[in-house]
Amino acid sequence: MQAEIIAVGTEILLGQITNTNSTYIARGLAELGIDSYYQTVVGDNRQRLSTVIEIAAQRNDLVILTGGLGPTKDDLTKQTLAHYLNVALVEDQAAMQKITAWFATNDKVMTANNRLQALYPAGAQPLTNHNGMAVGAFYQSENSADFLLLPGPPRELAVMFDSEAKPKLAAAYGEQAQIYSRVMRFYGISESELATRLQPLIDEQQAVTIAPYAKTNEVTLRLSAQAMTETAARGMIDKVDHQIKATIGPYFYGYGDDNSLVTTVINQMIAAKLSITAAESLTAGLFQSTIGSVSGVSAIFPGGFVTYANEAKHQLVNVPQAIIDAEGVVSEATAKAMASGAKQQLNTDVGISFTGVAGPGTLEGQPAGTVWIGLAYRDRPVKAKQYHFAGNRQQIRERSVMAGLDLLRHALNEDTDLKNNTNFCSLFACNSNFEQL
Ligand code: ATP
Ligand code: MG
Repeated sequence: MQAEIIAVGTEILLGQITNTNSTYIARGLAELGIDSYYQTVVGDNRQRLSTVIEIAAQRNDLVILTGGLGPTKDDLTKQTLAHYLNVALVEDQAAMQKITAWFATNDKVMTANNRLQALYPAGAQPLTNHNGMAVGAFYQSENSADFLLLPGPPRELAVMFDSEAKPKLAAAYGEQAQIYSRVMRFYGISESELATRLQPLIDEQQAVTIAPYAKTNEVTLRLSAQAMTETAARGMIDKVDHQIKATIGPYFYGYGDDNSLVTTVINQMIAAKLSITAAESLTAGLFQSTIGSVSGVSAIFPGGFVTYANEAKHQLVNVPQAIIDAEGVVSEATAKAMASGAKQQLNTDVGISFTGVAGPGTLEGQPAGTVWIGLAYRDRPVKAKQYHFAGNRQQIRERSVMAGLDLLRHALNEDTDLKNNTNFCSLFACNSNFEQL
C-alpha cells in the first residue's frame, strides 16, 4: 500500500506558508502503516494539477490531495479531480444545509460559488468538515488509484483526516504493517563523528533505519522499524539500540522527541532528592534560568548566585580574594571556590560554578571561549574542568550551560549511592544503565 500526498497552493510554492499539512498527513500514514515515497506541491493551476494527479495515480495506490476545496476561483482541486476521474460533482445534503444555515444565521447573502463547498466527486464517500464548510471525499476506484480530498486550512484538515479519513483508510486497506520509532539523544559528540562511528551499523541495517539529526548543541538519532505489531517492532529497535550504546554509549543521555539534557538531569536530581545551587560569572544566570524551565525544579533548587564582578564572588560566595589575586578569575581555583562557596551558602547537595571568557575580547590574557566549570558534588572532592568553546558570546554562554549539565549527568551516573535509592532507580532503571523502562 503506497500513497502520495499532493499539497495544492501557489502560496506554498512562493514560500508564503509552510506545508504543515503534508507533514501532518505523512505522520498519520506512517501510523496506518501506509508507505509514502513521494510528496508533491503544485500551484493553483488546473493544467499542472492535472499533470501531477496523473503521475501520482500511476505510481501509487492512494493519492491524497490537500487544499483548494474552497469557494474561490483558485480553488479547483475537486473540479480537476472529477475531470480526471470523468465523474460529475454531486451535492452533499448535510454540507449544503450547514452552508445555508450559516448564511441565514449570519445574515449574509449566499452566492452561487458557496454551493461549491458542498460538492464532491460522484461515487466517493463524502467526509464531514467539522471545522469548516468544504466537504472532503474518499474515492475508491477499480482501475485507477484511490483518492482522498482534504481541505487546506490546517485545523479543518487535522480533524477531517483523524476523525473521518483515517477510519475509512483503515477499513479499506485492512491492517497494515506499522512503523514505530524511537528517538535517542546524545550530547558531546558531533553529528559527523556520530555518523562515522555508526556507519558500519547503519550500512548493515535493513529492518531498522537509523537517521541522525543535528540539533543545537546535541545530536539525535531516530530509529524506525516496520512490523505488524508494536512488540515486534520494539524488539527490532531494542537490538539496534543496544548496539548503538555499545559504540557511543557515553554520549547517550536519554530518549524522546520532547526530552532535553536539562530535563533529564533535573528529573534525575529531583528523583534522587539532590538539591543544587549555582554561582555564575560569564553565564550570568543562564544556567539557573535553564534549570528553571523544568517543572518541579523548585523541590531541589532553592536559588543561586550571579557573581559577575570579583567583589560579588567574594561577598556572595566567599571566594577568597587571595585566590583571585594569585590564580586569576578564569582559573581552576576560582571555579572550585565558587562552586563550594555557593554550596555552603545555601547548604545544598551540589554547587556548580561557571567562570570564563564569553568574548569577544580576551580576559586575563585568555582567549574568548576559555571556560572553567566547577562542581562541588555532595561530599566528594571539589572538581573543576576547563573548556575551550568556539562561537560567539551567546553560543559560548549556551555551550557552557550544556557542558555544566553534562558534568552533572556524569556525576549522577557515577554516584553509586543513587543506585541504592529505590525512588531514583524506579525512574531511571539503574540496573540497566539508565535505559528507558
Ligand atoms: P478555503 O475554504 O479556506 O479556501 P481550501 O480548502 O480551498 O480552503 P486553500 O484555499 O488551498 O484551501 O488554503 C486555505 C488556507 O489554508 C491557506 O491560505 C493556508 O493558510 C492554509 N493551507 C493550505 N494548504 C496548506 C498546507 N499544505 N499546509 C499548511 N497550510 C495550508
Ligand atoms: Mg481556498
